[in-house]
Amino acid sequence: MIAKSIVALFFTLALFTIAQSPSANHVNASVNSATAFSSTTALSATVARNFGRAAQAKNTTAAPMATVAAPVYEVFAIRYASIPDFPVNALIGDADPGRKLSIAMAVWLIRGNGHNIMVDSGFYRPQFFKQFKVESFIKASEAVGQPGIMPAGQAALTPEDITDVVITHMHWDHADGMDLFPKARVWLQKDEYTYYTGEAWQSPRTHGGIEPDDVLAAVKLNLASRVTLVNGDAQEIFPGIMCYIGGMHTFQSQYVGVNTKAGTVILASDNMYLYENLEKHVPIAQTLDAASNLRAQDRMKQLAASPRLIVPGHDPAVFEKFPRVSERVVRIE
Ligand SMILES: [Zn+2]
Repeated sequence: MIAKSIVALFFTLALFTIAQSPSANHVNASVNSATAFSSTTALSATVARNFGRAAQAKNTTAAPMATVAAPVYEVFAIRYASIPDFPVNALIGDADPGRKLSIAMAVWLIRGNGHNIMVDSGFYRPQFFKQFKVESFIKASEAVGQPGIMPAGQAALTPEDITDVVITHMHWDHADGMDLFPKARVWLQKDEYTYYTGEAWQSPRTHGGIEPDDVLAAVKLNLASRVTLVNGDAQEIFPGIMCYIGGMHTFQSQYVGVNTKAGTVILASDNMYLYENLEKHVPIAQTLDAASNLRAQDRMKQLAASPRLIVPGHDPAVFEKFPRVSERVVRIE
């Protein structure tokens, strides 16, 4: 996503998508593993959903034992900026080339069980403001302190309060802020980290949208023992919080499932750009493997307690569909 204008950006990414497919072997491996994982994952979802109930059922027939219910988390979407006049066909391949949308630039916050977890971290480095028209911007470190996130009477969250940052993929608008949270552990897919700190830079065509400064930031955080590499699909990083691989929006993009009062919420990030992807059953425009992306979206529907609890990466409608707790923040429920 390094380009001088949105149109150039779109072009770059379109080229990126077509030209940069990694080796056929890798794609096949991903396809196979995605297929293999689908049944495991459906099972995991069911297990997660019924976990509390199962534990209780067990307790009624067995000797007294500690009931371990999956913790329930609160989830917020926070709009940290907008990019106006974004071409929709950069998000959905067959969209009318004339269609434009003021896309939401969002981060997500998960609270509960002693954790304040960011999902993605926005961008803040100055180069992006030269390359893109950015409106209504705040840093992710300010986003976490927005009103309505903490209960009334409690202090707003500060960057120091953030315990974890899950990066769904290394694109600049999701990963750039990963070093804004001084005490946080950063969670990245192992193959995403390995590829973008290495092989991706062996060709000019295999790192579209990846900012060198962000790669350096990830390496520095890792050198400081603050990175955990998530190794593949259906990984429970905390009780009730799962990472799933997302159908190659980037080399190994991921999305997040969260246990909430309303059931499993899926934070799709860019593995589903807009609601329209789900509604029309079309892959995202920027993927290294469209079929795999569609399968990932299908699976989100199985995992989520309801399709309405699947939260896309850039759709401004998210901020209309869910209850607003303050100007930039909605509660996903
Ligand atoms: Zn992206």
